[in-house]
Amino acid sequence: MQPAGRPNEPVELFKTEVSAWARRIGVEPREVHIRPMTRKWASCSSAGRLTFNADLVRQPPRVRAEVIVHELLHLKVPNHGKLFRSLLRAYLVGHASKRNDQ
Ligand SMILES: [Zn+2]
Repeated sequence: MQPAGRPNEPVELFKTEVSAWARRIGVEPREVHIRPMTRKWASCSSAGRLTFNADLVRQPPRVRAEVIVHELLHLKVPNHGKLFRSLLRAYLVGHASKRNDQ
């Protein structure tokens, strides 16, 4: 599901990943920004604006997927409760994501 455009551009590719996950999860982020961030991988505003750390585009696919799904899920579930964690796990299953520290 890649757009015709310029798949070599890492930022564009990353945004494509974000919209693919958004469709899958069934959410529509109002805005997606990518910029340098110092202390975290991403943030999500209550208005539906997602900001991702520019360094993320160079991380391995499973790290990107985890961060993207995490932030997109916040558009559905605003906290990190049981529901959030089980949805996160469900979406990342089969995506080669196995983190033992969660
Ligand atoms: Zn969170």
